[in-house]
Amino acid sequence: MKIIKIMKSMSITSIIVLISFLIVSCATKNEDMSEYKTYSNDYYTIQYPSSWLEPKSVKDREDGCYIVAFSTEDNQISLTVAAERIYPITSSQENYIEKILKENEEGINVEECIVDRNKGYKIKSEDNNKFQTIYIVQKNDMIFEMNFKYQANDYNNCQALTNQIEKSFKFNDFESLSVLKDNWNKYSIEDIEVYYSDNSVIYNSIEKWAKERVEAFNYITEYLNVQWDYEPIKIFVFNSQEHGKQFGLILGFAKPEYNEIFTKYTQTPGHELAHCISNYISGERIHSSLINEGLATHLNMTGRDYHRLAADILQEKNYSVKLLGNDFRKNENAYTLGASFVKYLIDEYNLEVFKEFFAQNRNNEEESFRKFYDKEGNILINEWMEYLKTY
Ligand SMILES: [Zn+2]
Repeated sequence: MKIIKIMKSMSITSIIVLISFLIVSCATKNEDMSEYKTYSNDYYTIQYPSSWLEPKSVKDREDGCYIVAFSTEDNQISLTVAAERIYPITSSQENYIEKILKENEEGINVEECIVDRNKGYKIKSEDNNKFQTIYIVQKNDMIFEMNFKYQANDYNNCQALTNQIEKSFKFNDFESLSVLKDNWNKYSIEDIEVYYSDNSVIYNSIEKWAKERVEAFNYITEYLNVQWDYEPIKIFVFNSQEHGKQFGLILGFAKPEYNEIFTKYTQTPGHELAHCISNYISGERIHSSLINEGLATHLNMTGRDYHRLAADILQEKNYSVKLLGNDFRKNENAYTLGASFVKYLIDEYNLEVFKEFFAQNRNNEEESFRKFYDKEGNILINEWMEYLKTY
């Protein structure tokens, strides 16, 4: 969870702090709210001084975490606001922060406080003349964190400004995701539970839709040789991207740790299921988008010939392609190429090696390639491309 990380390492969300010896002022004490601007999203509204920069989304809605950064131009004072859903949505989320704080109490200075009429917690720290004040509060099934950072040379003004901004924070009207479980229809079949709304496109074809997912589930568990002794996989089905957005979700994604899938009804039967099932090869997963997305796409049950598709793409791109690390997400054909690459690894080096390589998170991607394939990632990618030239 992000808040644990923040408490353990107080600089986790910090943007680069510009070191400056200029005497700076956070704000004048008598600044009134008319000199403030308003920022608002689905979950909250907050005011910040109009002299500050336009807020930036630092990490845009990835993984259900929404981070917005506010700061002055010289970055002498900054604020990041993180809003994160608590998963699984299918269990009670009461007193979530208290539980986390209890587990991480040591060495943290925590006070209770009130944020927009909700009970929250304030955590203060000081390091090398840099001050940090974090407010954490829960509303419905979301955790909000306001993380203020400022320098010591204008402590009092910064403190006053921090208080003023914190007081302006107001929750907007949003629903807890548990409505999907409580109010939607549920269709259970074997190890799968499908949740769908009354106006769902699949309302009248739910049996057929669910059966295709069961077939995918059976195929993937058999392919990966996973014995399913776990909770059923819960699939929440939406009509469109817009429909998901009404609940603050960017579809589709899986929460493999919790056996939960959030998907458009048109998504391939196997992709998100493969994310969930592959998590149970050992309970661990390699930190590699190429390998995770490659496997999920390879097992999406569309029957597409990913070697053929990849060979055509690569030829067009003159076989220059970057797929490792963060480059994967920047590549428009990433999933197709990843599926072909994973299939190549499995077919050329066998499935058992691939499973061991996949089902661990001790090494980074490059170390994993060396340890399990005795080769660098780029060497394997070149081998695969050579193979596709004659495919
Ligand atoms: Zn995926």
